Amino acid sequence: MTTLRFGSKGPEVELLQLGLNRAGLYGPAPDGTFGPATQKAVLEFQRRSGLAADGIAGPRTWQALMPYLTGSRIVTVSGGDSLYRLAGRYGSSIRAIETANPSADPLNLQIGSRLVIPLPFSVVPTNISFTSQVLELCAAGLKARYPFIESGSIGSSVLGHNLLYFKIGAGKSEVFYNAAHHANEWITSPLLMKYLENYAAAYAFGGGVSNKSAAALYGAASLFIVPMVNPDGVDLVTGLISEGSAAYDKALAMNEPPVAFPQGWKANINGVDLNLQYPAGWEEAKRIKFAEGYTKPGPRDYVGSSPLSQPESASVYNFTLNHNFKLTLSYHTQGRVIYWKYDGYEPEGSYDIGRELSRLSGYALELTPPYSANAGYKDWFIQHYNRPGYTIEAGIGAAPLPLSQFDEIYRENEGMLTYAQTAADAV
Ligand SMILES: [Zn+2]
Repeated sequence: MTTLRFGSKGPEVELLQLGLNRAGLYGPAPDGTFGPATQKAVLEFQRRSGLAADGIAGPRTWQALMPYLTGSRIVTVSGGDSLYRLAGRYGSSIRAIETANPSADPLNLQIGSRLVIPLPFSVVPTNISFTSQVLELCAAGLKARYPFIESGSIGSSVLGHNLLYFKIGAGKSEVFYNAAHHANEWITSPLLMKYLENYAAAYAFGGGVSNKSAAALYGAASLFIVPMVNPDGVDLVTGLISEGSAAYDKALAMNEPPVAFPQGWKANINGVDLNLQYPAGWEEAKRIKFAEGYTKPGPRDYVGSSPLSQPESASVYNFTLNHNFKLTLSYHTQGRVIYWKYDGYEPEGSYDIGRELSRLSGYALELTPPYSANAGYKDWFIQHYNRPGYTIEAGIGAAPLPLSQFDEIYRENEGMLTYAQTAADAV
């Protein structure tokens, strides 16, 4: 975390404001500008936390704010503590504490032992820029609350960020959802993370997701999620890679043919379009894109020097080969469209499942337009496995879609995200 002070701007200020908001000290919606209201809240937070109150968010302030960023607090049990008392003290619930601490004996809490106490707000924010940093915080926060979620890294990005994956469910049928191959389509990352959180909460507390029992879903399928295939690109578009940094300047120098910078950037930080990297018609994609003028690293549509030349696409490819996915969804924006076919392949059940996905979301089921009909993840998945794979173009408007669309996009997609986990079983 960067030290932030009056006048600072950017996604880390949004994150700071989110934390202060959750701590009850900052009312407005996060806007990424460290002004008087933010400074006042930081001062108040520092006083309350026993820190030197200087109004500057440095390492100690960030550290103290961490429970509000991850959504839980580690508490050492002392004499007289019970789950009931701990829940009351932190606004948590006994059920939430039990879920987060499966090995603790609620009737015999050991003095000096440490408990994870979930705080009374959800982990995944949907009102701030969703950077790789926010994703890491969500990963830590969700794993702390819901230890049955598995997570780890499938590889590293060009700039060394973990390519995080999550797994939920214990069924034999494996399915795979990925998002944010394209940098300026990052709203799809919180979409999958919010779904993961809602599903996990429903499973933990005996509820349902999209009218389906979470327990039944959990037993039927194993859902794997890579919510941010292109973290470096997302960080560029959201402003976490700040103006004047080496990575920013390098990307800016590659902005040709130019897009609005950085918000129009789709590629990874090397200027390669990650969804034109898969070995399915890659030569054809290259021919088409070169003819359109995309012949070198740039903000969009450059296929790379060879298939899988980039660590992000290679990692997703290898992750796929190491599993046995029956179905995949690849999230993009925008257009409210579902693409289901590749070349002459028509996997068994693929059309019928696509029709149901379309019915659940209200999105149109369509054939991929010729100019983008090759070298995408779903193209390769269909070609390699002859199983149902879909590209979902969520939302409508110009990317990056505003977060004001988030709730609507979530509502449109939750039914699909639930149905697709078991859809291929019926085939
Ligand atoms: Zn896309």
